[in-house]
Amino acid sequence: MKIGALKESFEGEARVAITPSSAGHLTKLGHEVFVESGAGARAGFSDDSYRAAGVTVVPTAAELIRSVDVVAKVRQPAEGEIRQMQPGQTLISFFYPAQNAEMLALAKEQGITAIAMDMVPRISRAQKMDALSSMANIAGYRAVIEAANNFGRFFTGQVTAAGKVPPAKVLVVGAGVAGLAAIGTAVSLGAQVYAFDVRPEVAEQIESMGAEFVYLDFAEAQDGAATGGYAAPSSPEFREKQLAKFRELAPQMDVVITTALIPGRDAPKLWTRDMVEAMKPGSVIVDLAAERGGNCDLTIPDERHVTENGVTIIGYTDFPSRMGAQASELYGNNVRHFLSDLTPRKDGVIQHNMEDDVIRGATVTRDHDVTWPPPPPKIA
Ligand code: NAD
Repeated sequence: MKIGALKESFEGEARVAITPSSAGHLTKLGHEVFVESGAGARAGFSDDSYRAAGVTVVPTAAELIRSVDVVAKVRQPAEGEIRQMQPGQTLISFFYPAQNAEMLALAKEQGITAIAMDMVPRISRAQKMDALSSMANIAGYRAVIEAANNFGRFFTGQVTAAGKVPPAKVLVVGAGVAGLAAIGTAVSLGAQVYAFDVRPEVAEQIESMGAEFVYLDFAEAQDGAATGGYAAPSSPEFREKQLAKFRELAPQMDVVITTALIPGRDAPKLWTRDMVEAMKPGSVIVDLAAERGGNCDLTIPDERHVTENGVTIIGYTDFPSRMGAQASELYGNNVRHFLSDLTPRKDGVIQHNMEDDVIRGATVTRDHDVTWPPPPPKIA
């Protein structure tokens, strides 16, 4: 089959869905690979680097879409992109069908097969295709780098001839994929790291990474833990305990990284205005939940601002794109693993097996039908 990556149309997006290295793997599966000219430029992959990997570079998006069977991209598709596609063609990208009813209807109308990388089931077998996790990992790492860049002091403690420097104190709220990456990065920079999550099962993981789990004085088990390993909204009593703990910690913390999310909901507000006001001047908050409204009351999505009391609050929503080369490499790998499952005989022929839980789970439209949401997976 012919598979091609579009240049991302979303302003400022640096990622690309196929890299020269992932193109090599796709070729080994028997596919022919194309890219739109300039698609990899912002991630550091020139047209020549693609040509060297055996990829055909075509000048425009329209020509790319006309030339291939499978269109790969990163961001959810724009209306114009779907409209140019023909029945029977496949689109593979982030899609967020729950938030994108119009595009879902359009993809159905166009008769394309749409594969949503954000809908890959989170089961062990599909980890290599789990683009949400690979992007969350990058976001967690980059959040700490961004915080360090905005913090006017060392992260690591030092004893120097000019004086003793204490380590920075970093609190990570939410220890999912992004939070754990943030913990690992902050620990490796020498900070003293504290972390909190409503799921008590992550305490061991947090501690094994060299951070301290913040326990609440609460009679019940931490009740935000719910089915399937995901968090559920906390009870008012639990939330009050949590906020009281954060109020106690706020004046001591130099850096706060918030990553708390509950699937399908707006981000819970956990770092309130009074906590920001209680923080020391020069402290930094990075709110990784900014896109879903933010965990911090004062976050402005997509912006960095400094409060009156001198706290820097960063609400960027494009952390993976800020590491375009790395993010493209990992996303490109996720996509090519998915295509590998779609090409079981490695003969360049796609077998779209709707009996396969992973393929079924990620397919959101097919044959003029909306196939989302999928039935629950048979295996875990
Ligand atoms: P996420 O980005 O959806 O949420 C981030 C974290 O915020 C979660 O750990 C959640 O518990 C926490 N949170 C929610 N409300 C909170 C609150 N009020 N206070 C503090 N923390 C709060 O998480 P994610 O990274 O997508 O991971 C969620 C789950 O999915 C985890 O159990 C993870 O192990 C699992 N997962 C499994 C796989 C796999 O098996 N392939 C892959 C990725 C994630």
